[in-house]
Amino acid sequence: MYDVRPPAVYAHETVMCNPTYRARVERVVAALGRPCSIITYADTDLPDMVQERGLLADRRPMGTLQHVEDPVLLFNTFRFDNVDAARRRRQFLDDIGLNEGAAPLVGDDAFIWFDANLATDKWKDDKVCRPCWRIHLQQGCLHRCKYCALGGLLVAMVNIEDYCRHLGELIRLHPWQQTYLLDDDADPPCLEPELGVLGELIEFFGTLENRYLIIHTKTWNTAWLSDLKHNGNTIIVWSVSGRTQSEEMEPRAGSTQQRVEAARMAEEAGYQIRYKFKPIIPVKGWREEAEEAVQMIFEKTRPDVISLCVFMWMNFEEMARRLPMHLLDEDFVAAAEASQAEMAATRARPFPPAVRREIYEHYLREIRRHDADVPVSLSTENFRMWADMKDALGFSATDYVCGCGPRSTPGLKRLTCHPFKVAVRADAGQVPGVRP
Ligand code: SF4
Repeated sequence: MYDVRPPAVYAHETVMCNPTYRARVERVVAALGRPCSIITYADTDLPDMVQERGLLADRRPMGTLQHVEDPVLLFNTFRFDNVDAARRRRQFLDDIGLNEGAAPLVGDDAFIWFDANLATDKWKDDKVCRPCWRIHLQQGCLHRCKYCALGGLLVAMVNIEDYCRHLGELIRLHPWQQTYLLDDDADPPCLEPELGVLGELIEFFGTLENRYLIIHTKTWNTAWLSDLKHNGNTIIVWSVSGRTQSEEMEPRAGSTQQRVEAARMAEEAGYQIRYKFKPIIPVKGWREEAEEAVQMIFEKTRPDVISLCVFMWMNFEEMARRLPMHLLDEDFVAAAEASQAEMAATRARPFPPAVRREIYEHYLREIRRHDADVPVSLSTENFRMWADMKDALGFSATDYVCGCGPRSTPGLKRLTCHPFKVAVRADAGQVPGVRP
């Protein structure tokens, strides 16, 4: 696992009273970069931990902090009881001033329905993502990406045996969903293999027929994956970036080279690998660095899909707060600054469409110099950009395959069903671990 030096380690009482779960935590603690004792806590201690001991104080965009330390580690169990108990815990969080994002602190949100482009989605029509179940084991991260607010606290769930049992039921109820994206709010390989949770999940998927786990990561840490019985049912998607971005803005993630080498090792061990250039930050010299990164990928690996996504999800002012702006291409910064009014209504801000398109076209050209056929798609973009790039990409917004879509199975070249119509939620809110 990574060299981690957390300011504190907490483990919930349900972890410490179970010998298997406790052993997982003790293995991680024994491998820390400096000694740290385990503090056992109960839910009733949370108000004090949050308000007096600053448990969430550093959950802020890391580029806005003077110093970034490793996060506090907190080990917990999913409760998997019933909807009423989950509602009471939600009320408890509310009473202590925390929102639903803090649900893992009280053992909730194992499985979350992502309603993208369904009637309930408030961003409907502004991003092309597909509705599906997303699954969670951790929240928080060690990688210190400047644009990200998931530092400060890493919550890791340890009751993987129960988790797989309930996940199995969710999978059974949703035959249309073939892939399951793990942890869009964490980077789960970092504490492995000591934690001993992710390998269990990979081997659980290895027992299934035509159902796949998707791990999305920026890690260098894949050597431990080689001997697992994954049965070809785990897809690992690397977010990759060019040299400056990876070294200066994603400082504890693997470098470009390390990520590609980690992907090579995973591919050699039989995992399907993919890449997302996401987020693409147009630094000075981004064109050359893109060429370098794309070349590195094809020298060492054979991805079945590559996705592209320019830095987005915030306005210009917020970007300037988070990123070291002196490293960015001045023309692109000027274009983003000048188009703030035009970009106010889309989550694809702050870079205007012409800038994003120029970046996508450059990456696409570079990829095609190495591989004429690998599907290339735009990730989390809006429908307008997809309409503009449809011919160049050879796909539409509703038939492209991507890194983590719920039907993007290994090697697939094009979706055969409409992704917004096929996705029907069928759990009736009754599977334990589902957000009420
Ligand atoms: S790897 Fe992802 S989750 Fe981790 S700090 Fe970077 S952006 Fe955040």
